[in-house]
Amino acid sequence: MTPSTPNREPAMQTNRANERPLPAHAPMNQFAVGNGELLVGGIPLTRLAARVGQTPFYAYDRQSIARRVETLRAALPETLKIHYAMKANPMPALVGYMAGRVDGIDVASGGELKIALDAGADPRGVSFAGPGKSGADLRRAAAAGVSINVESFREVAELSRIREETGHAARVAVRVNPDFELKGSGMKMGGGPRQFGVDAEQVPGLLAAIGRAGLAFEGFHLFAGAQNLRAEAIAEAQRKGYALARALAASAPAPVRALNLGGGFGIPYFPGERPLDLAPIAANLETLARHAERDFPGAELIIELGRYLVGEAGLYVARIVDRKVSHGQVFLVADGGLHHHLPASGNFGQVIRKNYPVAIGNRMDSREREVATIAGPLCTPLDLLADRMELARAEIGDLVAVYQSGAYGFTASPRDFLGHPACVEVLV
Ligand SMILES: *Cc1c(COP(=O)(O)O)cnc(C)c1O
Repeated sequence: MTPSTPNREPAMQTNRANERPLPAHAPMNQFAVGNGELLVGGIPLTRLAARVGQTPFYAYDRQSIARRVETLRAALPETLKIHYAMKANPMPALVGYMAGRVDGIDVASGGELKIALDAGADPRGVSFAGPGKSGADLRRAAAAGVSINVESFREVAELSRIREETGHAARVAVRVNPDFELKGSGMKMGGGPRQFGVDAEQVPGLLAAIGRAGLAFEGFHLFAGAQNLRAEAIAEAQRKGYALARALAASAPAPVRALNLGGGFGIPYFPGERPLDLAPIAANLETLARHAERDFPGAELIIELGRYLVGEAGLYVARIVDRKVSHGQVFLVADGGLHHHLPASGNFGQVIRKNYPVAIGNRMDSREREVATIAGPLCTPLDLLADRMELARAEIGDLVAVYQSGAYGFTASPRDFLGHPACVEVLV
């Protein structure tokens, strides 16, 4: 099957109060269209649904992931290491695919550590972050030989005991709670009081403790926030993070071998949002990579990305099981919703509910369009996949496709809520 027409730009939303048109979604071009159907890995959506054997499901497109990694490598400095933050999508097959394409995997739990190692990730490129790491998880990580981003004095004390008991001297980097914020970030994870990392003022004391404990000091990890579409804000945070690491390195027990400047690269989800411009970030990282040769000779400069690598490569697909009209408004009821895809329902940190880009995936060329609301099967008004969106006119049996669903979907959703049939994932 060859791709034919490019995807239609997802439709305008209307505002209930005055029906004034609102800004449109960014064009969704990552999946080609053939014979009126979205193609995932070249397979038409209805055929893929038959192959999966059920709806709802998530489909992730290998080619789309590979293209994204290649685009990044082409844009960013050659020496820069790109890590995959696997909490965005920990599907084992996908992590395995990714492990062969990136320079490292960032895990945030003992469970993720297992998936990454099973996937064949080289422990030298695996790092383990997250608050409140248990003694058991630290023991596993030390034995595996991965780098542990320590986030408290208690974690260093545990690792010191583990070294005395087992002889495994953990590789450790200090996760610094930076003294600045990432402006315009969808989720702030640094600056001010935080449960993440250790405040910059406390870092010299922690570095001394690492030295006394005889742990293998690796370097610093700074992560200021996620889902940012402002390139200048990301570049500024990376510059400030670099300067902070350089100042803190004066108190380090050993030379810095790795400097992880975080990530935060966003993707466009909502009307009016535009894709991130990589150029200013790339230019800034070129400068920092040059400085690093002087300031941290031989050290690796790392960024860690989750959603930017996989978010656009995934679709959530559900089938329309009912169509009804209430007070003049069309409701399409799907067999999936909030319980499988919490973010698309608007209940994963959004302040005001906005529509994800959505299409009727088997009617991409349809000229007959209407404004419809797509609800899931849950007995709660929160279960919406689209609220009054212009879509192809759909019937029972048609397939709803939610774009930008490759990250924070399947595992970020309350899948047992209300006890409906399970959702599955496929890597195509
Ligand atoms: C969640 C997280 C990431 C990934 O964030 P994305 O928005 O998916 O890119 C990276 N690093 C750390 C430390 C995280 O907690």
